[in-house]
Amino acid sequence: MMNFLEKRILKDGVVAKGNVLKVDSFLNHQMDVELLEDIAKEFKERFKTQKVDKILTIESSGIGIACMCAKEFGVPMLFAKKSKSINIEGDVLSVEVESFTHKTVNQVIVSKKFIRPQENILIIDDFLANGCALQGLISIVQQADAKVAGIGIVIEKGFQNGGKIIRNLGYQLESLAIIESMDDQTGEIFFHKD
Ligand code: 5GP
Repeated sequence: MMNFLEKRILKDGVVAKGNVLKVDSFLNHQMDVELLEDIAKEFKERFKTQKVDKILTIESSGIGIACMCAKEFGVPMLFAKKSKSINIEGDVLSVEVESFTHKTVNQVIVSKKFIRPQENILIIDDFLANGCALQGLISIVQQADAKVAGIGIVIEKGFQNGGKIIRNLGYQLESLAIIESMDDQTGEIFFHKD
């Protein structure tokens, strides 16, 4: 049985060149807020045994999803900012993250005052490819002496390395749709079945 998100990806997702799935019509540009609400409810269910004090994501495409999750969990949402500047000011946690879609390196920062030691942080993002974005966010949480309560991903591309790397680190990684393969010639998308 396909879940609601897999159905939507088959209906409206477009396979582009370079192993990129475009979901601009419901997730990354125009946003289907009803769908986001269903996504947030699913994450709430999957992480119901975890204590969650705050949701952390990275700008920009994670923000909408993370907002809905924050509402569902009843906690604040915090997003890591991409900063071009090398002059990182005082009280920030920072890490370098290579962008999968833009092939550039961004300094990613979070103000220290928004993550307290021992806080339980649920990390949320739209896509998981090679795992650079997630590793950056994990590093930010570690720098703050806080804890990663879990990681929620909307779409994992299972044929890239990120999922394996993150699961090997021992985190509870929950991906709502895992793509096993996709073909930009035929437009076909196949999901992982467990
Ligand atoms: P990673 O850091 O895991 O290599 O890539 C994750 C980040 O790259 C996500 O935050 C997402 O914004 C972007 N990304 C990676 N793969 C895709 C994709 O296939 N489609 C879209 N729209 N974004 C992607």
